[in-house]
Amino acid sequence: MSSGTTAGSGVRARPRLTVLSGPSGVGKSSVLAELRAQQPDVYFSVSVTTREPRPGEVDGVHYHFVDRRTFQRMVEDGALLEHAEFAGNRYGTPAAPVEAALAAGRPALLEIELQGARQVRLAMPEAQLVMLAPPSWEDLVGRLTGRGTEDPAVVAARLEIAREELAAEEEFDEVVVNADVRSAAADLLTLVVGPVPGGR
Ligand code: 5GP
Repeated sequence: MSSGTTAGSGVRARPRLTVLSGPSGVGKSSVLAELRAQQPDVYFSVSVTTREPRPGEVDGVHYHFVDRRTFQRMVEDGALLEHAEFAGNRYGTPAAPVEAALAAGRPALLEIELQGARQVRLAMPEAQLVMLAPPSWEDLVGRLTGRGTEDPAVVAARLEIAREELAAEEEFDEVVVNADVRSAAADLLTLVVGPVPGGR
């Protein structure tokens, strides 16, 4: 049995790996930024991707931006915990930092899409899968078309994928509805750090 929490932080002695998935445009980045502000002890995985950086994205912070050759080499070296193709680009989770965080006692969080979540489920059955869902389909369409950073064909492709992702809801352990960023982040944090044994 776990001996309890790290004093004061509410973080469990035995950390857990949480996978957060949800359709493009649902607000994953905003919820994670809020969660990061509330709980700096959580390890947030930085993925590798072959996608071009969006304005404001920083290499090594939002993603490690790599070319296809580098990505393929990481796959062949077994350096990725999971990887997937999404809307024409490749994305993957570097395994070593996640393992190091868990070994050091920090809960770890991966923000990845459905195919990757399924791979983690198979590789690490103890991982917790959480879906971030929009309050409604109309709300999601509004958010995705309103972002204005992608061309219409990319938006259409992402909406199609979003439909499939939302249909997979029953494969997830938990669903957090993002009606409000602060409360969605608080709900997610409870799941990431787990119930505090004997806690408040
Ligand atoms: P975006 O291009 O909008 O940043 O991300 C597109 C999708 O890729 C999102 O659904 C995001 O969760 C997912 N994604 C980001 N990093 C990874 C990763 O390392 N692995 C997988 N499988 N998906 C990822």
